[in-house]
Amino acid sequence: MGISRRSLFKVVAAAGAGSAASALAPLKARADQAATSDETIGMLYDSTKCTGCKACMAACNQANGISPDTETSGGRAHMPVDLNEHTLNIIKVYQDSSTGDHAYIKRQCMHCVDPACVTACMLGAMKKRSDGVVTYDPSLCIGCRYCEMGCPFNVPKFEWSKTAPKIVKCQLCRDRLALGKQPACTEVCPAGAVIFGKRKDLLVEAHNRLDSNPGRYLPKVYGEHDAGGTQVLYLACVGFDKLGLPSYGNQPVPHTVDAVQHAIYQGFVAPVALYGVLAGVIWRNRKRAGETGEQSEQP
Ligand code: SF4
Ligand code: SF4
Ligand code: SF4
Repeated sequence: MGISRRSLFKVVAAAGAGSAASALAPLKARADQAATSDETIGMLYDSTKCTGCKACMAACNQANGISPDTETSGGRAHMPVDLNEHTLNIIKVYQDSSTGDHAYIKRQCMHCVDPACVTACMLGAMKKRSDGVVTYDPSLCIGCRYCEMGCPFNVPKFEWSKTAPKIVKCQLCRDRLALGKQPACTEVCPAGAVIFGKRKDLLVEAHNRLDSNPGRYLPKVYGEHDAGGTQVLYLACVGFDKLGLPSYGNQPVPHTVDAVQHAIYQGFVAPVALYGVLAGVIWRNRKRAGETGEQSEQP
């Protein structure tokens, strides 16, 4: 499957990050276990069931103690345009003006089976737990943003508004899980559009839905194999690329990063060249983030 220019940009950024990480290997906690166990947990989001009510967004903010993002509405309503430092979970809408078709999509951390953010983080602030959850430890984070650049799903966000900024992202409500509760977004969803469970059971449920109602869905569970697999799985009736879920093939992005690094080293390009690339990427990302927010549609 092809890889887009934006995706390649991510890979090169992560390759630079990976080189820096290699230099500090003793300090780095890698994703030693790919969390392929049947006991790993996750979520299944069925776009065809979602009503776009955004109850999950409000519940997410509340569960994580984050003030809603009211910037685009002059302080009145919670209307973020994308994931950001105040928004770990967002419902977007895809609309086709020619056919009138539309579909909702829920975005948050995918909790990748083999996460690029963990590979990119040289200090072990991002970790893949044995239950599949990808956690973040702010006490280990130096704010380098390698995880943000390496993530193939544009998930980690930097707290630009703070004087000592850190990264924010969904951690699958780890505090609630520790109390024996399910994630806030799955608990509150009135339509049952997003459900929580073991990944293996969610896959069975997803395939049952595909088999019992083939006309309702595209014949694919996104995340079953994509980018090496993700703990968050998706069903939809329109192309996943249209919903902002890219086609990465079945290879984990960290492996792609390794392949890029390998190719560069075979050409005898010194690591300093990679740091140069990375510096350029950081400068470009900072400039872009300072100038604009990424655009998305609103329901
Ligand atoms: S979606 Fe991004 S932040 Fe989440 S686990 Fe995957 S690489 Fe890490
Ligand atoms: S699992 Fe928790 S943190 Fe993640 S999107 Fe759902 S409510 Fe938000
Ligand atoms: S709460 Fe459920 S139905 Fe409402 S927007 Fe979120 S996923 Fe969709």
